Amino acid sequence: MSSAPTSYLAELVGVFGYPVAENPTGVMQEAAFAACGLNWRYLNIEVRPADLPAAVAGLRAFNMAGINLTIPHKVAIIPLLDELSPDAALMGAVNTVVRSGGKLTGHNTDGKGFLRSLREDAGFEPAGQHVVFLGAGGAARAMSVEVALAGAERITIVNRTEARALPLVALLNEHTDCRAAYVPWNGPYAVPGDAAVLVNATSIGLFPDVDAMPAVELDSIRPRLLVCDVIPNPPRTAFLQAAAARGARTLDGLGMLVGQGAIAFRMWTGVEPPIDVMRRALEEVFGG
Ligand code: NDP
Repeated sequence: MSSAPTSYLAELVGVFGYPVAENPTGVMQEAAFAACGLNWRYLNIEVRPADLPAAVAGLRAFNMAGINLTIPHKVAIIPLLDELSPDAALMGAVNTVVRSGGKLTGHNTDGKGFLRSLREDAGFEPAGQHVVFLGAGGAARAMSVEVALAGAERITIVNRTEARALPLVALLNEHTDCRAAYVPWNGPYAVPGDAAVLVNATSIGLFPDVDAMPAVELDSIRPRLLVCDVIPNPPRTAFLQAAAARGARTLDGLGMLVGQGAIAFRMWTGVEPPIDVMRRALEEVFGG
């Protein structure tokens, strides 16, 4: 007689979003669970905005280990949680919830994933550096806060809409030690000579608009600049290709996506994430 498994009970995590069908995070998390021999499941769960409180009650009732949040729930989830990590409180947005001892704690791993990718994939330490972000939305907010907390000396936020950029600049100046400034984006942006990193934190270049590029004076991209893109699909954006053609080093958005997923995996399971397995699983999705 073959020996039966001791438990058929799977641990549950997933993502609440609307829409959520095309979110590929589960592909990398499921690959990581399989590689680590964990009986865990990651579910894409469609939750309409009005149903978020009921969904969180369901999460508690199902004894789920946690959840990711995507559009439009990253801010709306906050009053439904028991506590927030300090950086999620500073950003005012949560993308990962961890359930521990019956308590739901909100974290934000987007910026941490970027920081991990910056340090481990590009070998770059942002402390003491000038970092320029194109964009001031949720991704720019999470990344700039983490880069500031990591000791960046200056942060420049380049954005079309002043009303979105100014509160972010104020938050960075008031709550971190970096000096932040806003530059209106109303024509091709010339990257300042002292900038070490330029990050496209806008949605420009995301599939299917793969030929679109953020307005940057390509002549201002120098070989010692590190040019990063948040766009995970396609990983090799037209912007990164243009920067590489100018001799700059580049870092793609897949590293950030894997990084934030790896941090969530470790928070939920307590197991060291198999990062290479996670990246390969996403490369198969995006053809990276
Ligand atoms: P938001 O909608 O919060 O912000 C979008 C930003 O892009 C705004 O600053 C907006 O400017 C700017 N923008 C959009 N279109 C244009 C344009 N045509 N010209 C100039 N500026 C433009 O989105 P998020 O910050 O949440 O996401 C941005 C991108 O980051 C998405 O493509 C997402 O897929 C990606 N992302 C990647 C992650 C990863 O792990 N790799 C993680 C999270 C996000 P304005 O304020 O003027 O409207």
